[in-house]
Amino acid sequence: MGEAIIRIRNVKKIYQMGSESIPAVNGISLNIRQGEVCCLLGKSGSGKSTLLNLMAGLEKPTEGQIIFHKKHIERMDEDQLADFRQKYVGFVFQSYNLLPTLTAMENVTLPLIFKGVPVKERNERAMEILQAVGLEERAFHKPHEMSGGQQQRVSIARAFINQPPVVFADEPTGNLDTKTTYEMMDLITGLANKNNQTLVIVTHDLELSEYADRIVMLQDGKIEKIEKKLTEKGEIQYE
Ligand code: ADP
Ligand code: MG
Repeated sequence: MGEAIIRIRNVKKIYQMGSESIPAVNGISLNIRQGEVCCLLGKSGSGKSTLLNLMAGLEKPTEGQIIFHKKHIERMDEDQLADFRQKYVGFVFQSYNLLPTLTAMENVTLPLIFKGVPVKERNERAMEILQAVGLEERAFHKPHEMSGGQQQRVSIARAFINQPPVVFADEPTGNLDTKTTYEMMDLITGLANKNNQTLVIVTHDLELSEYADRIVMLQDGKIEKIEKKLTEKGEIQYE
């Protein structure tokens, strides 16, 4: 397992709702390592999505530090955050978040358009990754012409096309049946492992944590415990 790629130090995210303070993330410190598959597991409302969004630069912490390589995410302004996300981060969402008027291929090329990659190279790379996710025959279909599983394959292709060092997935299989769920988890972890990319996956499904190198269990915005994958002897290791 590699060095820490993301270091989270005493991070809090407190939402203010009128007079009420909601500590969604309430004092978390954690290192995410290069190349690991890390699963954030916990009940609904435990702070999983908030923690993921903080790491991905989609939200700013109320307190604490989030360091990606040597860059402090919490010190970045909106432009710097947008640049950071474009360069270093891929996303997979539960609801796919594809643009409905664009074909699979066009959706997948979006990150390359933002990066200024020329059209010919864009289309070649899009076809390549659509092949890798088993969708070349749907390249010219729009999202509503595809099943949920196929749409999620498109969104996985989009997340990986730039080969970002980290891919974040928030309940990526939450809308899928069991068989498709396992296909999707095989695909996403296979792609990440091939290029030693880091994968942080949010789930409330204990079964899916079998894909993880480490399972970070959250409760009430805090880390309840961290488990490592079963050792060869079949024992769970605690940190
Ligand atoms: P999970 O993903 O584990 O279900 P979340 O991170 O979405 O949990 O939410 C953690 C807590 O923070 C919940 O109590 C939720 O209601 C609250 N929360 C999340 N986002 C916001 C927001 N934008 N404004 C106010 N409260 C929020
Ligand atoms: Mg959530």
